[in-house]
Amino acid sequence: MRIILFGAPGSGKGTQGDLISRRYKYPKISTGDLLRRAVREGTDLGKKAEAQMNRGALVSDDIVEGLVRERITAPDARKGYLLDGFPRNLDQVRSLEAMDGGRPELAIEVDVDRRVLIERLQSRRTCRSCGAIFNLLLKRPGIEGRCDVCGGELYQRADDRPEVIGKRLEVYEEETRKIKNHYREKSVYRRVDGSGPVEAVFARISEILERENVGREREQDRR
Ligand code: AMP
Repeated sequence: MRIILFGAPGSGKGTQGDLISRRYKYPKISTGDLLRRAVREGTDLGKKAEAQMNRGALVSDDIVEGLVRERITAPDARKGYLLDGFPRNLDQVRSLEAMDGGRPELAIEVDVDRRVLIERLQSRRTCRSCGAIFNLLLKRPGIEGRCDVCGGELYQRADDRPEVIGKRLEVYEEETRKIKNHYREKSVYRRVDGSGPVEAVFARISEILERENVGREREQDRR
């Protein structure tokens, strides 16, 4: 099984992805996280991606596809995996299907009102060391400016600044309209209401996954 999780920036898809990954034991593959790590480590790829990311624009398909190809062939992704932030356009959809076609899939969209998205993004803080996410309105860290998980420094992502948020939402809406249609036509698209507490959203997603036998499908794989 492949779960493709998508949602606008600030929809909470990263948090939901972690919860799904933990419960269903699928590795979460987040292209945003993979890219941020490359930037942090100063790799050639990171240097190429950084300027685009800071502007809120998409990084070139070949860079992102290369990262995904490498990650989904790792042993822990053999039974299934969850994609967060990929595919983001139709070329990436095609490339994914060429890399790993024939695998059953579900495309789940976490849908949140635009006004709420902007509010959430402006108050989001990310740990520089481990990538954990906090929110000054909804999930405050115990000590201001410090990560509860590893004690690292919390910062505001350059692309979470108000001047970049509008651009990211525009890019998201334009690109995902086409992707959604693709998955709708394949009858694997499911929309989830992303409003309310994290646990409530996760309960809605779990209901869909259980209905699709996601956990049970893994049991069969293991036999
Ligand atoms: P995210 O953490 O998913 O919001 O991604 C942060 C940034 O990484 C995006 O604004 C893009 O610049 C880049 N990025 C992440 N995933 C992709 C992708 N699938 N294709 C192109 N760029 C991406």
